[in-house]
Amino acid sequence: MKNIKRIFALVLALALCVTCFAGCGKGDTLVMGTNASFPPYEFVDDNGNIVGIDAEIAQAIADKLGYKLEIRDMEFDSLLTAVESKSIDFALAGMTVTDERLLQVNFSDTYATGVQVIIVKEGSDIATADDLSGKVIGVQSGTTGDIYCTDDFGQDNVKQYANGALAVAALMNGQVDCVVIDNEPAKNYVKANAGLKILETEYVTEDYAAAFSKDNTDLLNKFNAALKELKDEGKIDEIINKYIPAE
Ligand code: GLN
Repeated sequence: MKNIKRIFALVLALALCVTCFAGCGKGDTLVMGTNASFPPYEFVDDNGNIVGIDAEIAQAIADKLGYKLEIRDMEFDSLLTAVESKSIDFALAGMTVTDERLLQVNFSDTYATGVQVIIVKEGSDIATADDLSGKVIGVQSGTTGDIYCTDDFGQDNVKQYANGALAVAALMNGQVDCVVIDNEPAKNYVKANAGLKILETEYVTEDYAAAFSKDNTDLLNKFNAALKELKDEGKIDEIINKYIPAE
């Protein structure tokens, strides 16, 4: 009889342990990395919370998959290494799918698009991308804008900043002649800073997607399935339209 009680207690203790491992660990939280200086995709609101299109899409996906969501703000050019080292579960940061990045990470299905544009001060003598040679171009370090401008105009003409806000501040201060950045953040920065305007460029449309570690295809597949459901339900359009009102 004593033995039976002991065995019963042991089984109960084991069961409790298993439940705890499944439910109490980090395993129930998805950690998203982003650079919260990229409105309307991600920015810090007046209450200090990271909000925006990417934050809402990630929350909707986490809800569907039954995870809590934690959002970590970091520099854009640290995101891929963080994904690779699994210090974050995925990066969602208005990040463009490129062949080069695909060597490092896997990308989810795409959920939005962007185009690189040029921000100049009103009255600037830069009218098109052809006028950029010899000018000082401000970019966010490690972004496609940085990569294109370095390729097209040479490293000496490109000044890298940790985020879009700092690049735009440098333009306002006259430290750079223009900023090359994605079109939607560009619109937000121009709205927030008087005396700036946007020039369209010939750069092609880019696809935004979430980045995952190459050995976490399980989470990637779940993410894609949830993303598809949200697209079918019209939820992705709803979130995007909330932050990018039709013109
Ligand atoms: N879409 C650009 C890229 O992926 C910029 C993204 C960003 O700055 N958050 O490089």
